[in-house]
Amino acid sequence: MPLIIITGLPTSGKSHRAAQLHAYLAERIASAPPSPQPYRLHLISDETQSVSRTVYDLDPEHLPAHVRSANASEKDARASLYAAVKRVLSPRDIVILDGLNYIKGWRYQLHCEAKNTRTSSCLLQIGCSVDRAREVNQARDDTDEKKYRDGNWENLVFRYEEPNPMTRWDSPLFTLIWEDDEAETRKVFDKIWEEIGPGENGRKKIIQ
Ligand code: ADP
Repeated sequence: MPLIIITGLPTSGKSHRAAQLHAYLAERIASAPPSPQPYRLHLISDETQSVSRTVYDLDPEHLPAHVRSANASEKDARASLYAAVKRVLSPRDIVILDGLNYIKGWRYQLHCEAKNTRTSSCLLQIGCSVDRAREVNQARDDTDEKKYRDGNWENLVFRYEEPNPMTRWDSPLFTLIWEDDEAETRKVFDKIWEEIGPGENGRKKIIQ
């Protein structure tokens, strides 16, 4: 079973959709035909790995005292996320990786990890206008751990590398936008399940 990589701008609604997808897949797995090796579902994110928003901050003036240099902390965070994914990913495990996942080289690395584990990966991009995502961040209280410092937030938007579905590592690519209602969201989740579940496509993926 594959790795579902969520990607999108900061505060664009990624965790919100990841939680919805987790609930949806839990329900699909529970109602799948009994199998000697049932699927397991995992949600991995900055929150589950205790990765702070400050690791993405490249401004040396805002680095916490214990951090050696800008960027080193982000590399450490990626290493922690990578290890968490690697620990559980298998043909029987569905892993939702909720995060910015904004570097194409990083997405490539994750795609290769899935292949090495004889499973597959797909991408769920969360579409949201820059203005709305910025509003969400600015509306957050300064003490909220989920808030990005304004400069950090702007810089992440600038650094964001849009997925390209023409590449192996960014496909198949599924998209949800902020405005997508329950029915539309379910349609997209159904398509993901068709791709990764135990159906025709899913079986093909496992055998490959
Ligand atoms: P991210 O994970 O990208 O940082 P979150 O999922 O935490 O963003 O979403 C930021 C805020 O916006 C949360 O308060 C969330 O409840 C709200 N939100 C996210 N997506 C939607 C949506 N599609 N409709 C309404 N509110 C949303």
